[in-house]
Amino acid sequence: MVRKHMWLTGVFAILVTATAWADSPLRVLIVDGQNNHQWKKTTPLLKSALEDAGCFQVDVATSPSSGQDMSSFTPKFQDYQVVVSNYNGDLWPEATRKAFQRFVETGGGFVCVHAADNAFPKWDEYNRMIGLGGWGGRNESSGPYVYLDKDEKLVRDDRQGPGGSHGARHEFQVIIRDTTHPITKGMPGAWLHTDDELYDSLRGPAENMKILGTAFSNKSGRHEPMIMTIDYGEGRVMHTAMGHHEPSMQCVGFITVLQRGTEWAATGKVTLPIPDDFPSADKSSARTD
Ligand code: ZN
Repeated sequence: MVRKHMWLTGVFAILVTATAWADSPLRVLIVDGQNNHQWKKTTPLLKSALEDAGCFQVDVATSPSSGQDMSSFTPKFQDYQVVVSNYNGDLWPEATRKAFQRFVETGGGFVCVHAADNAFPKWDEYNRMIGLGGWGGRNESSGPYVYLDKDEKLVRDDRQGPGGSHGARHEFQVIIRDTTHPITKGMPGAWLHTDDELYDSLRGPAENMKILGTAFSNKSGRHEPMIMTIDYGEGRVMHTAMGHHEPSMQCVGFITVLQRGTEWAATGKVTLPIPDDFPSADKSSARTD
């Protein structure tokens, strides 16, 4: 009788655990609709990468196209735990901007992918959320360049000049600079990213920003931030400068940063593991099926 009771208790515990997991996926909203990148091809990759992790339920909010009336673009941010941006385009209506700012300020998560950091050069609060951005007329008035110099020392560089640059696409090594942060904990200290655009010379307010990973740019001669976290009010932001196109998003390193960064932005914790097919210092790894 005692044994039977224990067996039932065990089954009950498993059922409760399974039910809790199935009933409470983390709700993710991807925003897209305008981008000078191939968002119609890359949003499905972001969505499937997140869904493959098993703990996310993903919706997509697509804005009207460039130059159209944006007043109908009012995603219900508050229905989600984290927003992932694949958007680089026209300014959102004021009500949408205010709702998004309030969402992050009051504890919502935000993940900024690659050219989403080109968006909204004049929206101050957005730039405080992403820490660093590029193009769109960004310059010394946007904030300093932030990077590690050749001696790997953190520099906030106020010199004049444009924000945002890159050379030809290539594979490059990401060096982990924070081995204790939940997103990067357990990653190899260096790993080879697949073919991508290596952003350099981003600039922005960079307040409450941590640099988790960098890549050395031959163009700028600096170790450029590739993975960053920003505290914005009660909210958590993960910004990756990687992810120009499909091959760069098929990188297992990119997928893992996206999955773990999104979980962290949503909850402040990471339970997702580093996968077995993760790249090493000299060998990239891609999921192409
Ligand atoms: Zn790009």
